[in-house]
Amino acid sequence: MEHRLTIYNTLSRKKEQFVPAHSPHVGMYVCGPTVYGDGHLGHARPAITFDILYRYLTHLGYKVRYVRNITDVGHLEHDADDGEDKITKKARLEQLEPMGVVQYYLNRYHKAMEKLNVLPPSIEPHASGHIIEQLEFVRKILDAGYAYVSEGSVYFDVEKYSKDHHYGKLSGRNIDELLSTTRELDGQSEKRNSADFALWKKASPEHIMNWPSEWSQGYPGWHLECSAMGTKYLGEEFDIHGGGMDLLFPHHECEIAQSVAALGHESVRYWMHNNMITINGTKMGKSLGNFITLDEFFEGTHPLLSQPFSPMTIRFFILQAHYRSTVDFSDEALIASEKGLQRLMEANAHLDKITPAERSTVDIRSLRSKCYEAMNDDLNSPIVISHLFEGARTINTIIAGKETINAEDLEELKSVYHTFLHDILGLTAETGANDEREAAYGKVVDMLLEQRLKAKANKDWATSDQIRDQLAVLGFEVKDTKDGFEWKLNT
Ligand code: ZN
Repeated sequence: MEHRLTIYNTLSRKKEQFVPAHSPHVGMYVCGPTVYGDGHLGHARPAITFDILYRYLTHLGYKVRYVRNITDVGHLEHDADDGEDKITKKARLEQLEPMGVVQYYLNRYHKAMEKLNVLPPSIEPHASGHIIEQLEFVRKILDAGYAYVSEGSVYFDVEKYSKDHHYGKLSGRNIDELLSTTRELDGQSEKRNSADFALWKKASPEHIMNWPSEWSQGYPGWHLECSAMGTKYLGEEFDIHGGGMDLLFPHHECEIAQSVAALGHESVRYWMHNNMITINGTKMGKSLGNFITLDEFFEGTHPLLSQPFSPMTIRFFILQAHYRSTVDFSDEALIASEKGLQRLMEANAHLDKITPAERSTVDIRSLRSKCYEAMNDDLNSPIVISHLFEGARTINTIIAGKETINAEDLEELKSVYHTFLHDILGLTAETGANDEREAAYGKVVDMLLEQRLKAKANKDWATSDQIRDQLAVLGFEVKDTKDGFEWKLNT
């Protein structure tokens, strides 16, 4: 495969050339959402980041198996009052089956992802559907001597493991500090050391999502699902594991430890992490009043927002930052993004209206290679976008009649826009039933205006004026241009 894609590997702390183990096949695992509550920006960023990677690898010709899990047991938000996990609590209070609660939020998550034009992964396994695989994993770690049973629960023995292996290699945490600062807390705990983490937890009587095991009626620890499901669907060694930076420790560090303990070797070749999102410069949090759900963005119903922002604006805003930089959301920044996206989309739409000339007075030859160069540089989407803006300026000078472009260059420009704007960045004209209908109306208007052009060519001024005037009555403003016409709907 002819490309020079480099990605930043969190494990080696440097950019590396991407070479999959079994090209053209690529295995990619991304930690998906915990399904409880409506999707928010914190869900959108990893989904969009790894959507770009998925799209780009596919574009390069790889056959990508993209696994994104659904956490529905083991790591759920716990209620502050009684410590009960929220899915269990809601299910109990509303007399729902817990899986019904999960499904409700999962449907909403899928809908938000679809609006953001995030492609569905190849496989979306649920933690609750892979208990057997997780039990097998616990068994392997116990047999290898890196776990112990205590009061019906099974814990990973971090101290023992770190004698043979490097615990902390991904996050850079110092194991000696970790063990010494946590040791004193151990008195009442079932754990030997508070750095130890649960592989299997014995369920308390009110914990209704539980399964039988040789140790107790219980449920798996959170980190385990990703090791077990990654191995099941991508094999003992696979190419890419992604997730938000907040998962680096303990989640991903523990995943590495579990895989090494159970399989005798590491599973992942490239670890990738997207940076976090802040709102008006502060961390997002329910108690801070700046926790904005995706639906609130789409509908503009949160007090911090002056207007609704379309899913494509949110997507574009996220892509305007490199995935390893933080993104700070604010109303003003989103308004600026909305305008920028509009400019790009208008330029893209203008491409269909350009009539090619004999020769080009513009140079668009390097645009494609510059976009590839940016994508190959650790998915540098903001640079790709800046090149597309450069292309938009060129398009606008052609539309204004200041420059000309020949047929071959025009095709190239269209193709670059289609590839990078649409296929790779996943930015489309807003879709939905209404927009499709509007697009159809637009085609009818185009058709009428073509008729008007013909009438004008035949010097049939009466028909030409009639079409223009009647469209004006319906709110369509028609402007004659060098290449024919332009129109917009005044609302
Ligand atoms: Zn995970």
